Amino acid sequence: MDNCLFCKIAKKQIPSTIVYEDEELLAFKDIHPHAPVHLLVIPKTHISTLSDCTAGQAPLLGKMLALAPRLAEEHGCAVGQDEDGAPTGGYKTLINSGPDGGQEIYHLHLHVIGGPHPWRVQR
Ligand code: 5GP
Ligand code: ZN
Repeated sequence: MDNCLFCKIAKKQIPSTIVYEDEELLAFKDIHPHAPVHLLVIPKTHISTLSDCTAGQAPLLGKMLALAPRLAEEHGCAVGQDEDGAPTGGYKTLINSGPDGGQEIYHLHLHVIGGPHPWRVQR
């Protein structure tokens, strides 16, 4: 897509802070973070919205989701346990779809939002 911001980021025509890349996916820091860790995972190929995904793209969606805990680990917000076995850390994974879903950029992206400090997400 010629005029898509995230396609331009995927093609490195627009700079971003890349935290992960392979042949299919790119992950980079959100420009307006809502928390200490706020990353976006995108497919390099253009898909406008989750609703446009076909059954054949399920493996790609699974790969995007499976990347989240790895990124969380690398950015210090993995889910862990304290000495009493209570859960610690953590992050949100979020896909906004369509205007009523709060989607602003029409290139599929998975938000990974978390951090080591108390925070609240309004989305
Ligand atoms: P949406 O509301 O579509 O789910 O989220 C779009 C996200 O893209 C927002 O959190 C916004 O801050 C982020 N964003 C918008 N423009 C840019 C940009 O040029 N670079 C980066 N890294 N993030 C962007
Ligand atoms: Zn695109």
